[in-house]
Amino acid sequence: MLTASLLPLLPVLTPGFGAVAGAWGARRNGVRFRDERALWIAGAALGATIAALAGEGLARRFGAAAGIGAVVGSALWLAGSLLGAWWTPALDAHDRPLSSAASVALKTLQSPLLSVAGLLLAALFAIVGRRVTLQHGTVFVSAGRGGAAVTLGAVVWAQDGLRDARGRVSDTWARHEALHARAVASLGEAGFYLAYVFLAAPWALLRHAPWNALASDGRGNPFERTAYALHTDPPAPHGEPLLASRQARA
Ligand SMILES: [Zn+2]
Repeated sequence: MLTASLLPLLPVLTPGFGAVAGAWGARRNGVRFRDERALWIAGAALGATIAALAGEGLARRFGAAAGIGAVVGSALWLAGSLLGAWWTPALDAHDRPLSSAASVALKTLQSPLLSVAGLLLAALFAIVGRRVTLQHGTVFVSAGRGGAAVTLGAVVWAQDGLRDARGRVSDTWARHEALHARAVASLGEAGFYLAYVFLAAPWALLRHAPWNALASDGRGNPFERTAYALHTDPPAPHGEPLLASRQARA
């Protein structure tokens, strides 16, 4: 049986195809720096492996064959990663309500825990009158006064200092955070956040740089490099054609 003969190879195959998917995701998203690309690859290898282990654990829990669970877990991760890498850059660049909603759905496939919890909280926040906006395929929820933001899956908790007079997050910051959300879509929520916190952040701290941002001299968390580079790019034309977003990679 094909599956049975593949099973012993799974511990090698899973991080292997994860790494390839991560490299492709970095390419699709126009990641510009070598150390940042290496982290996308490492994080995706990690994400695929954790998905396989989660599938194995769930299968055992429900009395199914552990190996099949691992195959299903890693296959679902791979499908989500490839779909996210393929579609979310164009959907986010398009930045219209329908394309953004589709992008949120794709990102939620790869970050179900954070995105579903975030979307439920965002709905509650909207009901009580907090500002919630859909921009560049990502949901931005007002997180009070200040100038910071944190992306958790498809939802960004953004303080009001990042919003303009119309109440929308400034386009640059929206594109910055949307790139992080697309990294989550490529690497999976476990892969991205583990790589961010346990690989990229210590790398920055060892260089006495901010763990979750970039200093003005460019030192910092490598996952932030391309996102911060967007701040100095010439502004992108609003609502780019859906299939022409590749220009963003140049
Ligand atoms: Zn950032």
